[in-house]
Amino acid sequence: MLGALTATVGGFAALMAIRATVGIGEDVAGSLFLFDGAALDWRKICLPKDPNCRTCSA
Ligand SMILES: [Zn+2]
Repeated sequence: MLGALTATVGGFAALMAIRATVGIGEDVAGSLFLFDGAALDWRKICLPKDPNCRTCSA
C-alpha cells in the first residue's frame, strides 16, 4: 500500500510541476493538497501568506 501511495502522490506532484511549467490551470501556489488513501479523497487547503515571512511575502 505504501508503494501505491507514494506513486499516487508522486504522480500528482509531477503533474503539478508540469502544469506550472507549461502554464495551464489555476495557480495553486499557497495551496496544500492532502490525500486520504483509505477514502480515496483529495482535500485542498488554501494557506494565506504570512505578512511577517521573508520567504512567501517577499
Ligand atoms: Zn512563508
